[in-house]
Amino acid sequence: MHIPSTLLETLKRLVGAENVLTDEASLLLHGYDCSISRARPDVVVQVSCANQIAPIVSQLAQYEIPFVARAAATNHAGSCAPLRGGVVLNLTKLNRILQISTEEKFAWVEPGVVTAQLQEALRPLGFFYAPDPASERICTLGGNLAQNASGARCLKYGGTVDHILAAEVVLPTGQTLSLSRQDLGPDLIGLLTGSEGTLGIVTKIQVKILPLAAHVQTFLATFPSLETCVQTVSDLAAQGIIPRCVEAMDQLTVQTIESFAHAGYPTNADALLILELDGTREQIEKERLQLEEI
Ligand SMILES: Cc1cc2nc3c(=O)[nH]c(=O)nc-3n(C[C@H](O)[C@H](O)[C@H](O)COP(=O)(O)OP(=O)(O)OC[C@H]3O[C@@H](n4cnc5c(N)ncnc54)[C@H](O)[C@@H]3O)c2cc1C
Repeated sequence: MHIPSTLLETLKRLVGAENVLTDEASLLLHGYDCSISRARPDVVVQVSCANQIAPIVSQLAQYEIPFVARAAATNHAGSCAPLRGGVVLNLTKLNRILQISTEEKFAWVEPGVVTAQLQEALRPLGFFYAPDPASERICTLGGNLAQNASGARCLKYGGTVDHILAAEVVLPTGQTLSLSRQDLGPDLIGLLTGSEGTLGIVTKIQVKILPLAAHVQTFLATFPSLETCVQTVSDLAAQGIIPRCVEAMDQLTVQTIESFAHAGYPTNADALLILELDGTREQIEKERLQLEEI
């Protein structure tokens, strides 16, 4: 795709010439994610300040140049591969935690904050951010919002969409919008979350934070069949027990993992469940007895 030299000059003015990349290595490195999609952008723009996004997007809209936002590129959906060429906006430098309020239970972050980085900042304060995608040590909160990511804790706490309180977003026209859960009208945050960057680029996110549970205990249960294993999760829920994490594995999975990790998993069981219960000691003990009975 032809990128007009006037646009390139404007982009350089907006973000600095050193942040407008057209060399082959940079284009190659920004042409893929964790999916099988492969593409080639024409330009990579490294954004270093959230305020740069609206003017960049306005320019791209004016010149009708396609663009995609890219964070850690760990998605498996091909959603940050620039299939139509154009511009990739690399947002990984927007990695500041702006505010944490334990009193009001929220944190404001830039979209390039790595998910685990927020957890590490919250832990000493006795708080945590509930969504826990397995990629949390590399993926970002902006990418999590765009993919509505979730992890093993989603049974009890829900996915990313349940933990976004507010967001600032630059629409594909370059217009900036502030969205809040308290807004009247349709659930625009719900619409934005999981939209894979197609509705706008999120420049600032307010997430819900929760106090750490007083105690967490992990259990491993073995089963004679995968059916009874999975049925147990329903039986637990029917008794009002929602584990904070659940992972089910069939025998082949257990054997595969055990031969690699040597974690001590029982390889002769047809299926197993790993569960984590959280709460007070008394609550966990009560639920443990119910769990054993089931
Ligand atoms: C080893 C591994 C384990 C994984 N485990 C899980 C898991 O347990 N649960 C799960 O849900 N996913 C998982 N994933 C998938 C992936 O990590 C998630 O989808 C993650 O949310 C993507 O974040 P990212 O920062 O890498 O975003 P990217 O892959 O860079 O981008 C993803 C999408 O978000 C858009 N985007 C990025 N930033 C913004 C922004 N600021 N505004 C608007 N759009 C934006 C991009 O355009 C793209 O469409 C895993 C991936 C790997 C490689």
